[in-house]
Amino acid sequence: MNVDQILSLKGRNVVSIEADRSLSEAARILSERRIGALVVIDGRQPVAGILSERDIVRAVATQGAQALGEPVSRFMTGQVVTCSGRSSVNELMELMTQQKFRHVPVVEAGQLVGIISIGDVVKQRVGEIEAESQAIKEYIATA
Ligand code: AMP
Repeated sequence: MNVDQILSLKGRNVVSIEADRSLSEAARILSERRIGALVVIDGRQPVAGILSERDIVRAVATQGAQALGEPVSRFMTGQVVTCSGRSSVNELMELMTQQKFRHVPVVEAGQLVGIISIGDVVKQRVGEIEAESQAIKEYIATA
């Protein structure tokens, strides 16, 4: 299965935030939407950055609660690794494991078209493994 197939099942909505909004607004959105990362937008490029819950924890740990009033742009990761709709689930698993992040925005023709989280990848792999296991059981039962 590839990224396009996952997006057609889960949807293409991406929750984003402008780079000049505050860290506390970002925390509120993450909490309300029950997600772990926001794509940061600046109107010039499809993905200006990514801000994950870990960035907020790091900001508060190093700078205290006053960091929550600072703009997202100060704490986001600016060099974002993205994928395309043709990327395979295995490629994403390898990428997330090697680079130690759990979110990959999907960019097609210069447009942000979705986001894949580690939860989406795990759900898809578990589904595949269950289907394989069921097929083997049926094969043994009829052999
Ligand atoms: P995560 O595991 O996705 O919550 O993120 C861990 C760290 O990696 C945070 O500092 C994020 O800003 C950063 N990060 C998350 N996703 C990406 C990505 N696709 N490309 C680059 N950095 C990322």
